[in-house]
Amino acid sequence: MQKARYFIPRTRTRVDWYELYYLEKPGYILVFRDEDVKKHRYLVRVRKVEAEVFLDCPCLGAINHGHCQHEDHSRKYFNFNKTRNPRRFDLKTQEEYLTNYLQNHLKDMQRKGARPC
Ligand SMILES: [Zn+2]
Repeated sequence: MQKARYFIPRTRTRVDWYELYYLEKPGYILVFRDEDVKKHRYLVRVRKVEAEVFLDCPCLGAINHGHCQHEDHSRKYFNFNKTRNPRRFDLKTQEEYLTNYLQNHLKDMQRKGARPC
């Protein structure tokens, strides 16, 4: 299995299709679903405390069961200690786009006084 990928391709779960993007600097994973073209479905917070990585997904699964498929997928496909920066032009562009998207979203949430999810 390939680890340490900055972007992962579409990930299939048993029930749904997700696309996950780990943005290392701001420390978030954007979780998109197929039908959500313009807006992410979940925003998973990534906190690193020494060697430990804590993931915090706002979905009901995580709240009710302490973990969820978004967190599980993230742990399976991202190596949080060794991310690789995208080298291909289209991936760099996508990373830039998603970083801007995330920053705007976080600003928006801050303005509204809401939790960033
Ligand atoms: Zn979740």
